[in-house]
Amino acid sequence: MFLEPRTGEGSRGWIEVICGPMFSGKTEELLRRLRRAKIAQMKLAIFKPKIDQRYGQGKIVSHDANYFPSLEVAHSAQVLKQGAFAQLVAVDEAQFFDEGIVDVVEKLSLAGVRVIVTGLDMDYLGKPFGPMPQLMAIANYVTKIHAICVRCGQPGTHSYRLAQGDARVMIGQVEAYEARCRNCFSEGMVSRAAN
Ligand code: ADP
Ligand code: ZN
Repeated sequence: MFLEPRTGEGSRGWIEVICGPMFSGKTEELLRRLRRAKIAQMKLAIFKPKIDQRYGQGKIVSHDANYFPSLEVAHSAQVLKQGAFAQLVAVDEAQFFDEGIVDVVEKLSLAGVRVIVTGLDMDYLGKPFGPMPQLMAIANYVTKIHAICVRCGQPGTHSYRLAQGDARVMIGQVEAYEARCRNCFSEGMVSRAAN
């Protein structure tokens, strides 16, 4: 699908990225921006990756039980197809999308859409996660937020996996992770390797 770049006053799109480790408040920050966009009566379209390839409805929920309905899609092409008619497109958990999401986000912004992407910047090994590095590179605005390291209380930059298993994706297992600073993350990885 080809989208004509729109020109003229007030029709410019752009790309915002909100990234950080688990528990850093990415969802809270996304919801804050979505609430404000709703007040501005913008037409919203919110997408999440569907990991098991089915297609359906979901929602983005914060800890204060605020939520926005979201569409769960299996492929980035669906974000372009269904997001092209919105004024604001949010892409949650972008680290799980295919690489095509980078192109999709760029096309949407060229077509005048405000795009907000959230995702984990690093995986459980501390490595850049999926398409996030590319998304951060092409974004107009990048907000990198931190959790609190549960070991030392410093800003937490990493998602440390407590559970066993070396699959990169372990969905729905929040209790299997904790937020750590780089030092405490590194200490954990070293002592794990020694055992
Ligand atoms: P994310 O989307 O980045 O995983 P959420 O917005 O879902 O984050 O959750 C952030 C909230 O998680 C915080 O406001 C806080 O209440 C809670 N929380 C739990 N553990 C931590 C932690 N170690 N550091 C910071 N916040 C934490
Ligand atoms: Zn620490």
